[in-house]
This record gives sequence, C-alpha cells and structure tokens, in this order.
Amino acid sequence: MSISITQMTRRFGQTEVLRGVDLTVGKGELVALLGPSGSGKTTLLRIISGLDWPDSGQLRVAGEDWLSKRAEQRRTGFVFQHYALFPHMKVRDNIAFGLTVLPREQRPSAAQIRTKVEELLQFLQIPQLADRYPSELSGGQRQRVALGRALAIDPEVLLLDEPFGALDAQVRRDLRRWLREVHEATGTTTIFVTHDQEEAFELADRVVVMGAGQIEQIGRPEEIYDNPATPFTASFLGLTV
Ligand code: ADP
Repeated sequence: MSISITQMTRRFGQTEVLRGVDLTVGKGELVALLGPSGSGKTTLLRIISGLDWPDSGQLRVAGEDWLSKRAEQRRTGFVFQHYALFPHMKVRDNIAFGLTVLPREQRPSAAQIRTKVEELLQFLQIPQLADRYPSELSGGQRQRVALGRALAIDPEVLLLDEPFGALDAQVRRDLRRWLREVHEATGTTTIFVTHDQEEAFELADRVVVMGAGQIEQIGRPEEIYDNPATPFTASFLGLTV
C-alpha cells in the first residue's frame, strides 16, 4: 500500500530526531532510507509500525490515517538487525507466530496456517530449515526466517531495519539478491533502512538520503549519484557536488 508521511516531527528531550519529514512511498515500491547512525531512520520505522509516536505530522497508508491505529491494528512486517526469532520455537512456528496472534476475526484456522507456512518455506527457499531451532541456523538463514515471519501476515507495509548489518559481505550480497527477488514476487511496499550506500543503491527503486532528522534527497540511485543535491549528500556518499 502507498505510504504518505507529512511534516513529521519527533523529539527526545532536547534532541530533535525528526525535523519535519515528508516522504511518499508508492504501492509496491522498495525504498531505502540511507543515512549515518543517529539520523532518525529507526525512529521513522518505529513510528510507521506503531512502536513510537510522532509529536506532530501525519501518517497515511492507502489513504487511511495510521496514527489513530494501535500497532496491532496495522498490518506491518518488521525485520530487525538482531533477529528477534523466538529461540524456543522451531522455524515453522516462528514463521507461523504472526498468524496465530492476529485478531480472532482475521486469524486463519490451524490447517490454513500450516499450509501458509509450507508455502512460505518453499517460496523463500528454506524448506530444509522448517524443523530447526534458531540456534541451529547461520546468521543469513536466521534473517531469511525473520523475513518469512514478517511476510506471513501478508503485510501492507514491510519494514527492514539494517537486516543484514551483522553479516559477512558475501552473505549480505547473496541476501540482497534474494530480497530483491522476493520483493519482485510479492510486490509488498517496503522500506529498507541501511547506512551502507552500496546496499541502498543496489536494492532500492528509490533512495532516501537522511541526515540529522531531515531528508536531504530522494531519487533513483543514478539520479543521486549523478546529482547529489546537498553538500551533506555529496560528502556522505563521497561525491563532489
Ligand atoms: P538511526 O536509525 O538513523 O541510527 P535513530 O532513529 O535510532 O537513528 O536515532 C536518532 C536519535 O534519536 C539518536 O540520537 C538516538 O540516540 C535518539 N533516540 C532514539 N530513540 C530514543 C529514545 N527512545 N530516547 C531517547 N533518545 C532516542
């Protein structure tokens, strides 16, 4: 679904973490939020998912006001850098989790959940992991499972916060390619947070460069490379204006 953020602000004490952010993400788009640590990227994701609230501004998803909805009423999938998988649950139960806690009227039957999990395991190319526990998986495998868990509820919006940040360069490259394929197959509107420009530029339809609570530039990767709009963008990307 499309996401529209207008004039969003958030402060923690004296720190203005978001200073009037305007951002529109089209339905089915994959957007990367790229910026240094502390620029407000995670705060923006947390507000979209309902884990945090802005001081002012609007958030609309498919035209609906999401700030009037609690986190449980928003259909978001969230993948964190440090895999928040449940250690005592097998992979298949981790993936099923989001479905088992949906509000009763939306919750599928146990049989439907089993079928959905099998389909996802196949689709994500991890059927061999179904009966393992998280401790038996590599870091890259855990993130594949974490994405499976986020996608199980057919989210309207998928939010990924430095999902590959803790992994080796080669694993990151493999996962990037895989995520791009998954995205093309599902068409889920996705915001991907990273401080790694190579990752942002390779993955995203559009890149949103953030610095100190503000959007410095939004554009397709080649537009930003060819024409960095601000000195901040140029210096962050190692380019000349
Ligand atoms: P990024 O994801 O770009 O690294 P964050 O959104 O995590 O940035 O953080 C931006 C700033 O907001 C940081 O300076 C951080 O210390 C501050 N911050 C984030 N959450 C809180 C909080 N709950 N309380 C106080 N300060 C916070």
